[in-house]
Amino acid sequence: MKHFLFLIISCSFMMCSTAPETPLSQYSSKDRKDTHSFAEPSKAICTHLDLTLKADFKSKTLTGTARYDIQHDNADEIILDIKGLDIASVRVNNAVVEHTVKGNDPIKGSALHIPISADSKSIAIDYSTTADAEAVQWLDPIQTADKTHPFLFTQGQAILTRTWIPCQDSPGIRISYNAEIEVPEALMAVMSASNTTSKAPNGKYTFEMKQAIPPYLIALAIGNLEFGKVGARTGVYAEPSMLEKSVYEFGEMEKMLVLAEELYGPYLWDRYDVIVLPPSFPFGGMENPRLTFATPTIIAGDRSLTSLIAHELAHSWSGNLVTNATWDDFWLNEGFTVYFENRIMEALYGKEYADMLSLLGHQDLEHEIKDLGAHSHDTHLKLNLAGRNPDDGMTDIAYEKGAHFLRMIESKVGRETFDAFLKKYFNENKFKSMSTTEFESYLAKNLLEERGIEINTDEWIYGAGLPENCPVSRSDKFVSVEKSLGAFIETGAIPDDALTDAWTTHEWLHFIRSIDKDAPMDVFKVLDTKYSFTHSGNSEIAAAWYEKSIHNGYYKNITPEIERFLIQVGRRKFLTPLYRALKENKDLETAKAIYAKARQNYHSVSKQTMDVLLSE
Ligand SMILES: [Zn+2]
Repeated sequence: MKHFLFLIISCSFMMCSTAPETPLSQYSSKDRKDTHSFAEPSKAICTHLDLTLKADFKSKTLTGTARYDIQHDNADEIILDIKGLDIASVRVNNAVVEHTVKGNDPIKGSALHIPISADSKSIAIDYSTTADAEAVQWLDPIQTADKTHPFLFTQGQAILTRTWIPCQDSPGIRISYNAEIEVPEALMAVMSASNTTSKAPNGKYTFEMKQAIPPYLIALAIGNLEFGKVGARTGVYAEPSMLEKSVYEFGEMEKMLVLAEELYGPYLWDRYDVIVLPPSFPFGGMENPRLTFATPTIIAGDRSLTSLIAHELAHSWSGNLVTNATWDDFWLNEGFTVYFENRIMEALYGKEYADMLSLLGHQDLEHEIKDLGAHSHDTHLKLNLAGRNPDDGMTDIAYEKGAHFLRMIESKVGRETFDAFLKKYFNENKFKSMSTTEFESYLAKNLLEERGIEINTDEWIYGAGLPENCPVSRSDKFVSVEKSLGAFIETGAIPDDALTDAWTTHEWLHFIRSIDKDAPMDVFKVLDTKYSFTHSGNSEIAAAWYEKSIHNGYYKNITPEIERFLIQVGRRKFLTPLYRALKENKDLETAKAIYAKARQNYHSVSKQTMDVLLSE
């Protein structure tokens, strides 16, 4: 009762919003300046969104209203990011005002200036998306698993939410949201929020995301979806034909969730569900809170690719709870998550298994540094992406160099101490954003100084390439794989079935990666006959094999299969190395011919990368 009274009194004196009051002064510091947003949060920010949208699959548009609670310090305007949106009208405290749209940057879009005054508490924007909504992919039935209904999904990271919702599209700004989405009656809508598990007969769905999140994590999917339960707090959304397979594949999700909590503290988002999207989804997974968006290419049938789920789940702490302040600090999201993902996999399957994963990650990292150039500024953990597409920073530097940096710190301070530090870091900084500079101070103050430990933090964060004290895991399993391959190359002896039958996907990947690209084509033929890599149902194995085959020249025997894969799958992680390999092997013609057929199936994120890759 006491609490209740207090609540009434405090609400009558201040603006009552579901999001907590945010001190605007925090946005003034230089290292928090987000060069990818027009918003000026130190003057005025949005704190809560009420989104009302209707999805029209005929015209491929989302139409409706974004209404925000705002907070400001006597500002005369509030600025939002928009890109390719049709703005119909803007209201402040429910009265129509004159708005201004300034600039038209090919990457950032435009600034929507809305005049406000001292008593302005809310703004509302009536708008519609256009064909330029890069976040949104509208799929025809033929592009889905069941081929019966259309599908829609959004991908907001890094700066695409502004193409379907006018917003202050900066990872340093957090908002809570409610949404009402109307869809055709046969379809179901789900969001990065509280979700229903069955179809609404009238096609109207309501959502609530109570926890404040950065706008890049607002996500929507619409399709002929069904829900399957995995555990008490976990489940899967998928098209009917994919549901059973997906529930099996992600059968260990609940266990992962419990293990993650044991490592770094309670899961603060209520439920953890996954939606399996059509194959054009450009990423492996996207950590939209409460509802990870996942590619169907991880459904291997044997749970061998579910480290991706561990990764997306880990983001519920690193990224979603503590968020990179700007895209230059992206390693704070991804480096921590790869580290955490590996710890979940170790807790689930043991150290030997996790070591294989971290070694594959190390190979990816060496590859990336070679591609970018050992002295490239893009190999620094702290990036400078001003004037560029923040997508350029989504490389293995953020992911793997970041994770190796944390492993190095762990080896210096000991695992127990490092785990306690991370747990405290997540707890003390929850629902906040973090810049690299702020992390450095936090690390020094809470871990290093009191123990008198000195590490080469500067070299890791602001230096190029890989410092000498980069830890590299060892794997006896990989040594055994290398021996088998060596014996085969030398004597032609096929590895023993009893041995290879027990190999995991990771051992197979290491096997394929270790084949010398200049080996005689016969080596490829014999291995393909024996192991059918070309027809593997495991997308990681197939993609690794195709890439190696292109570098070898063997691919000319399997071009139709590679073409089929590239037309069907839109996951950028697979597309980039395959198109690049064709280009490097002077077969741009084949690359372009396949791309001409495949491009229409890709999301804008993948299109953008391939357009650049194939035009150079
Ligand atoms: Zn990630």
